[in-house]
Amino acid sequence: MSRTALVTGASRGIGRAIALELAGRGNPVVVNYTSRSEAADEVVAAIEAMGGKGLAVGADVSDPQQVERLFTEANEAFGPVEILVNNAGITADNLLLRMTPEDFDRVIATNLRSVFLCSKAAIRGMLRSRWGRVISISSVAGLAGNPGQANYAASKAGLIGFSKSVSKEVGSRSITVNVVAPGFITTDMTDGLSDEVRQTILGSIAIGRFGDPAEVAAVVGFLSSEEAAYVTGQVISVDGGLAL
Ligand code: NAD
Repeated sequence: MSRTALVTGASRGIGRAIALELAGRGNPVVVNYTSRSEAADEVVAAIEAMGGKGLAVGADVSDPQQVERLFTEANEAFGPVEILVNNAGITADNLLLRMTPEDFDRVIATNLRSVFLCSKAAIRGMLRSRWGRVISISSVAGLAGNPGQANYAASKAGLIGFSKSVSKEVGSRSITVNVVAPGFITTDMTDGLSDEVRQTILGSIAIGRFGDPAEVAAVVGFLSSEEAAYVTGQVISVDGGLAL
């Protein structure tokens, strides 16, 4: 059965791979982006080339008015969103004593406030259809912490508490709320790491390599499916054994 899916920050990286995975499962997909409309259009073209349906919608998911418009456009195109993937995320790393209140607030707004705003907008419709999947992308940093990422780790740990709470509110309506926590996945976000940092990280990954966006998308695909109906409030790591 096809369900309308919406993936935030889906123009590149993990979000792009998730959009393609959900489209491959037969779902129409709303591809949200902030600034790179050509990249989002390319994702929609890739979905259409697979015989699927996609729609690119620009919106800053930390902004309530833009989130409202995003869900209105999604609804008009494909009907109510039944699979929401909260993927959009940013970093603004610094050691605590150098971290500005602006960098703290910006990361919390993009990574955590967005999860609140989009989940609220999606769950309103999911309660009516008595079916839904909300999947939010956390990080190994949200589970274990990471020096220089107090703001990022706080946002990624915050969405875990948020998801567990909401899973208890909506579970009886066949709506599941889960979290996927990637380790180090090859994307623009990790491309900036120095060779030295890379080697240190590789030393703690049991599988011995960085992950691929498609490997995160595969787990999101399962959680979005009918088969995952009895999995809720969980955090599933896709990290090659990094957090062990
Ligand atoms: P990326 O930087 O390649 O992509 C992030 C996406 O989010 C981009 O498309 C960007 O435009 C979008 N975005 C940023 N701010 C936005 C906003 N306000 N509104 C809408 N979209 C916005 O990063 P990625 O590596 O693909 O990361 C995707 C998610 O996975 C993020 O939440 C990230 O924290 C998480 N994650 C990534 C890794 C990794 O190793 N790459 C590890 C753990 C968690």
